[in-house]
Amino acid sequence: MRPVAIGVLALQGDVPEHARAVAAWAAPPGVRTVRGPSDLVGLEALLLPGGESTTIADLLDRTGLRAPLLRAVEGGLAVLATCAGLILLAREIEPSPGGRDPRPLGILDVRVRRNDFGRQRESFEAPVRIDLLRPPRFPGAFVRSPRILAVGPGAEPIAFRGEEVVGVRAGRVWGLTFHPELTGDPRLHRAFLAEAGRAR
Ligand code: GLN
Repeated sequence: MRPVAIGVLALQGDVPEHARAVAAWAAPPGVRTVRGPSDLVGLEALLLPGGESTTIADLLDRTGLRAPLLRAVEGGLAVLATCAGLILLAREIEPSPGGRDPRPLGILDVRVRRNDFGRQRESFEAPVRIDLLRPPRFPGAFVRSPRILAVGPGAEPIAFRGEEVVGVRAGRVWGLTFHPELTGDPRLHRAFLAEAGRAR
């Protein structure tokens, strides 16, 4: 697989974990931290980390990254979003009871509900099925994860926990409710980057 120009959105969240998970495939000088619009130039793949989606969305606006990021995705930038990242990509977020929700980017055709697997201390690991991997069994780390309530015609389910969809893709844009960067299995990142490195 050829090296890919990879960046991690580094506004808030588990940024170092993501950077480590893809370091082996990054084009020199290595994984780029993305904090402003100029960091997107020349990027082929962007990871949207887990974290606090309300905070990350506020910072997307304050850094002026929101519009350039949308344009980059339209131009073919590949995106792998986990957990809070998926919330940010969603077309629709179900309003949290009494809560403040982020304004999503509306890139992935899914409706999500935040924090739907319980609180931080109810985080858990459970096997997930991803048919594009061999074997399909993959460790899923769920940390205050959102639930995918509905998948629209613009997105394709790629990961399942039992019958439930826990990951989707729309071409080069992938979104997961769990954290592949936390469990040490590199296959999902590798599959994503193989796709990101392909000619557009
Ligand atoms: N609960 C967080 C949110 O709604 C997401 C948690 C995570 O990314 N691990 O932003």
